[in-house]
Amino acid sequence: MDKITTDICIVGAGPVGLFAVFEAGLLKMRCHVVDALPAVGGQLSEIYPKKPIYDIPGFPEVLAGDLVKNLEQQIAPFHPTFTLGERVDDLEKLDDGSFIVRTVAGTEIACKVVVIAGGLGSFEPRKPAIEHLDKYEKNGVEYMVRDPEHFRDKRVVISGGGDSALDWTIFMAGLCKELTLVHRGTTFRGAPESAAKVLSMAEEGQINLILKSNVTEVHGEEKLEAVTVMVDNTTPHQIEVDNFIPLFGLVPKLGPIEDWGLELEKNAILVNTEDYSTNIPGIYAIGDINTYPGKLKLILCGFHEAALMAQSAYNIIYPDKKFVLKYTTVNGIQELQA
Ligand code: FAD
Repeated sequence: MDKITTDICIVGAGPVGLFAVFEAGLLKMRCHVVDALPAVGGQLSEIYPKKPIYDIPGFPEVLAGDLVKNLEQQIAPFHPTFTLGERVDDLEKLDDGSFIVRTVAGTEIACKVVVIAGGLGSFEPRKPAIEHLDKYEKNGVEYMVRDPEHFRDKRVVISGGGDSALDWTIFMAGLCKELTLVHRGTTFRGAPESAAKVLSMAEEGQINLILKSNVTEVHGEEKLEAVTVMVDNTTPHQIEVDNFIPLFGLVPKLGPIEDWGLELEKNAILVNTEDYSTNIPGIYAIGDINTYPGKLKLILCGFHEAALMAQSAYNIIYPDKKFVLKYTTVNGIQELQA
């Protein structure tokens, strides 16, 4: 079990959580960022990485994926640490006012301030309605590809027709012993160039592609051993597998955040707009997860909230020091970083 100590624990590595690292870093506060997803970027990486955004100040147009890369580059000088692929489940406030943040995997983060930048909540996989599927979770059934190496030399069936299913099929073709993509339609929802690549890989025999079909059954004693594919919705066909990866997208759920004693309104955390603090001293909420009169769920609003949060958090981390606003132009990043 990992134990981490930091000044600020940021729950959520979306654009707002990432920018909060920058604002905190300018004030010499160390951050550890946790996200349930295996990669940073929140909605930008998960839902629309290849879409252009037009309302980021100073960027007439920027691809969502590129904005995430820029943010990663911008915060790198402050050396943030990350726990990815683990949902924060539990938050404990200690008698001295500090916190222990715990993830589902048992990682513990000791910190003085918690910043919830959880967006629409943690993304949970949309699971297909297949009987006994849950029996094989962690025993052959995976809903996300956290580490592709896990599937090296394995017989794998991926199911789905969106970008995730296409991208992982292309990526894992050379890795798996045998890779089959099952899709219920004849055309794909994902990027046309990825769809074309998958079709040509199937023609060249690099992967098996079964269209107009669904995985309808899973089989195995202790672990997953086979799946049944209903071909053309009429003919059952059994495939021996080590892993089945249904990739039908992710749905956001507020999840455990609901149980942390925070004042909520319409599935969002109520905050004080002076500093985006919540009803629990030491816990802030920024970005899409919060609500207040006039709230706009926009990236630029989240960035502003991060700046105000940081100067308020400074008073908790450094109670004996006076906050002084410093321009990055005057002091430079090297000067300001911890
Ligand atoms: P998110 O991006 O939602 O990230 C939150 C992260 O927190 C997620 O990665 C989630 O996994 C994680 N998380 C939540 N709960 C937990 C937990 N318990 N433990 C661990 N991790 C957790 N905005 C604009 O300003 N301009 C646009 O043009 C624009 N276009 C958009 C287009 C689309 C299709 C969509 C869907 C949204 C668009 N938005 C746009 C909105 C914008 O994406 C959001 O405002 C922004 O993503 C909010 O950032 P965030 O960091 O607050 O949250």
